[in-house]
Amino acid sequence: MVQHERATTRSQLQLLRGTRAPAFAGVADEDWQDWRWQLKHRLNSIGELAEIIRLTPEEEEGIRASGILRLDITPYFASLIDPDDPTCPIRRQVVPTGRELVPFTAEMRDSLAEDLHSPVPGLVHRYPDRVLLLITTQCASYCRYCTRSRIVGDPHANFSPQEFEAQLDYLRRTPQVRDVLLSGGDPLILSPKVLEHVLSSLREIPHIEIIRIGSRVPIFLPQRITPELTDMLAKYHPLWMNIHVNHPKEITPEVEDALDRLSRAGIPLGSQSVLLRGINDHPAIMHKLMRELTRCRVRPYYIYQCDEVHGAGHFRTTVAKGIEIMESLRGHMSGYAVPTYVVDLPGGGGKVPVGPNYLLAQGSNRVVLRNFEGYIGTYTEPDDYQGPDMAVPEEWIWPEPGQRGVAGLLAGEELAILPQEFDAVHRRGGKEHRLNQDKDKWTPRGVGGQSVPHGG
Ligand code: SF4
Repeated sequence: MVQHERATTRSQLQLLRGTRAPAFAGVADEDWQDWRWQLKHRLNSIGELAEIIRLTPEEEEGIRASGILRLDITPYFASLIDPDDPTCPIRRQVVPTGRELVPFTAEMRDSLAEDLHSPVPGLVHRYPDRVLLLITTQCASYCRYCTRSRIVGDPHANFSPQEFEAQLDYLRRTPQVRDVLLSGGDPLILSPKVLEHVLSSLREIPHIEIIRIGSRVPIFLPQRITPELTDMLAKYHPLWMNIHVNHPKEITPEVEDALDRLSRAGIPLGSQSVLLRGINDHPAIMHKLMRELTRCRVRPYYIYQCDEVHGAGHFRTTVAKGIEIMESLRGHMSGYAVPTYVVDLPGGGGKVPVGPNYLLAQGSNRVVLRNFEGYIGTYTEPDDYQGPDMAVPEEWIWPEPGQRGVAGLLAGEELAILPQEFDAVHRRGGKEHRLNQDKDKWTPRGVGGQSVPHGG
């Protein structure tokens, strides 16, 4: 393991309540606690940042560069930066460096093909029963590895009221959607009136069962989680929230208070963390982070492999590092504290869970498994199991047009999922002839009630 010559463990540690950079010592407490003051006084220039930290030439290059993701850091979050250690995990998340300009193989501007899979602008419908609504492009501070750097921070890319109406219209006429995730940008950066309009409009749609909010505001700007905000949010239950947090140092006493207010408003909290080189790619850091989150009543939900998005190349790790980290979590701490590690497949494949292999072998009625300690044991399966024998209400079977996938294969609805143009490739340009006209030849008895997709 290499170590940066100026790295100190001090820069990793959690800080005391009320920590402020010396440059903010004279700010009145009332202003410091005011989220509007924090937003108005965000740092976004070399001069402002140089008052807080000793900038490296690489950081200065990044701040000066044009065409990169916007720079803004709340005074609260900037105060958590170690001024002398360029490896400080807070600093590396929000202070640009020249490395953002370096292109890398496979990078894209929209690596998850979100804009391609949007039936209307700002609404991504990838999974059968849920959608992602991008309702703003603004955030409290800007993460240098942001997946949506193509729009985030750009006020001109913001979504119009007409586009929001089009999103609502799509939702009204798409009853299979029962779960809406609000993201952006950061929904909690919206004015209280606008946010309430969004929530109340969604609540008017009867088939939307749950609303989720993805936010980094509790971390960048815990002052924003006021009793007025939590009272307003509590009117729109069932409402869930996932916070985005990457390092234990982000969990300050102020953040703990904000999370407590959200929990007391009845909002179940989850977390998502991005696996980031030089920030949290160490089992001990992730272990500590998951423990801290659980202590704050936040259920760790995802660790994401960093996306192949322009500007984020230097933050990426191998997938093997993520699996190693998962090996250090599962079994070593309560299952509540163990998130799912996912790779979001470029091109819109969606999140794929990845982790250590625990199933070592399968026989006719026995499986061989190993646990986190390396204990290898067997589970003997019943000889007479034939599947469930109860009837299930028809309405519990949720429509997933075109997306039943492997579950559909297991349910016997289809015989195969074919790559695009599978049959055309295998015909090799040949025409219809006496042997391939009878489509019935490829109709499997008892599967799906219709022919396999061959021969079309
Ligand atoms: S808070 Fe989320 S949307 Fe905003 S910059 Fe960070 S990762 Fe991107």
